[in-house]
Amino acid sequence: MPLFVAHQRHSPETCPATAATGSQLLSHISAAAAAGHGVTIEAEVLIDGDHRLLLVVDAANREAVEDFLSFLLPYGELQVLPASTAEEAVERGVCGAARQPSPAEGHGRSV
Ligand SMILES: [Zn+2]
Repeated sequence: MPLFVAHQRHSPETCPATAATGSQLLSHISAAAAAGHGVTIEAEVLIDGDHRLLLVVDAANREAVEDFLSFLLPYGELQVLPASTAEEAVERGVCGAARQPSPAEGHGRSV
């Protein structure tokens, strides 16, 4: 299943890990809640000394990840990025942009 990294950044004022919202955060960032959206959590971390939450997840597509993490939207900005393992990047030959099919492909044009 495709791999995604979700990056959520919030201010100290809207930190979801505080006593008021912490239990809500834990119930959302759980294997069971993720499974309900077709998402598998591979790793989840909060950066110490900063207000950033990073998740590595498996999901069929970006929409599933955004749907799973939509509860974070009121807390700050959320980015969901397609990602690869090192092995996949090496197989592809580049770790930058994933290869997109060009419009010329499939029209019999050769280079
Ligand atoms: Zn925080």
